[in-house]
Amino acid sequence: MPRLSKSLSRFQSSPISEVFSLALKLQAEGRDLVNLSIGEPDFDTHESVCREAHAAIERGETRYTAVDGTSDLKDAIRMKFKRDNDLEFERDEIVVDAGAKPLLGHIMLALLDPGDEVVIPTPCWTSHPGMVRVCGAEPVLVECGEETGFKLQPEQLAASLSPKTKALILCSPGNPTGAVYDESQLQALADVLRLHEDVWVISDDIYEKLVFDERAFTTMAQAAPDLGDRVITVNGVSKGYAMTGWRIGYAAGPKDAMAGMRKVMSQFTGSPSSVSQAAAMAALNGPQDYVAERREIFQKRRDLVVRALNQVPGLRVPPCEGAFYLFIGCGGLIGKSTPAGTEIVTSTDFARYLLETEAVALVPGAAFECDPYLRLSFAASTEELEEACRRISRACSGLT
Ligand code: PLP
Repeated sequence: MPRLSKSLSRFQSSPISEVFSLALKLQAEGRDLVNLSIGEPDFDTHESVCREAHAAIERGETRYTAVDGTSDLKDAIRMKFKRDNDLEFERDEIVVDAGAKPLLGHIMLALLDPGDEVVIPTPCWTSHPGMVRVCGAEPVLVECGEETGFKLQPEQLAASLSPKTKALILCSPGNPTGAVYDESQLQALADVLRLHEDVWVISDDIYEKLVFDERAFTTMAQAAPDLGDRVITVNGVSKGYAMTGWRIGYAAGPKDAMAGMRKVMSQFTGSPSSVSQAAAMAALNGPQDYVAERREIFQKRRDLVVRALNQVPGLRVPPCEGAFYLFIGCGGLIGKSTPAGTEIVTSTDFARYLLETEAVALVPGAAFECDPYLRLSFAASTEELEEACRRISRACSGLT
């Protein structure tokens, strides 16, 4: 057989997708699975959005569009940035892609050369370092612990920058911790970045609509407008508008960077789906009240799980300010043994035990470059979450 590419050995498949596949396999075998491994709202896409998608089909909007999205959707995105973030962009400062995930990959291809370094605070979403590696660049992972709310501190940023640094990736609210940077925290990071003018900032704001406890959402381009010529703000409709399957993400940033991305996209994609673009436009331009109502529901679910799991000996649930994940410390279980006599050495061992004995799927911390933790997605019904907490508690009490 002909050989596969050497570059494949530079990175692994996304561990989250692997847990998800294993969970689906167990489900197919008839297990009564509670799958809290997925980062996807369990709500349906709002009817106003679906109606507009149908209308777009009726109007015959079923062909390729401009490679980086329709002017109408770009105008809706410009309006969204003005309304939600007080940021103003021209059409050529916006690109639309088939989801924030491919869009991030295309940004990295436009910015990075082999050997470049990209600073990524950890715990981090598994694909941020994964994509950097795909590009032949090096992720510089900076450990941000619970004691600082899992947030990058200015002195850590200063220490991690080198002449090779090409970019910093910030993600707020964060996956997997839900950490939300406030304006002053972003400004403190901006003070460091001002001393390093060749460093791009990629701000992944995909969870913007899920910020809890009346906190305000702020993004770097807003907190430090003078860095606007090197901040690329990434967002999309997947999480906030429950539109994961529609596959629409977008970015706003300086013209040259957006032109670079457009060039990459022109080789990799025809255009984002025309019907999905009409749907995304309806989401951004349409009613916003249900977005806030759903956020309230997520917050109640968060509180339910935090209350239940903080009572389980061996587990510790740090505060979660946004997104729909809890990053649960399981250090108290390390070194214990399962009823079958297997020692729990890492969070991956515990996640496997939980899946096999109680059919609850969580993602081990290793997927996010941080152990011993487990990510639990509370984008599930109250009944499922209550059942999961009962099972997790039972599994923990079975360890000796
Ligand atoms: N960024 C982060 C931090 C995510 O967690 C995800 C999805 O899990 C994405 C981006 C991708 O979003 P999309 O569905 O728009 O590709």
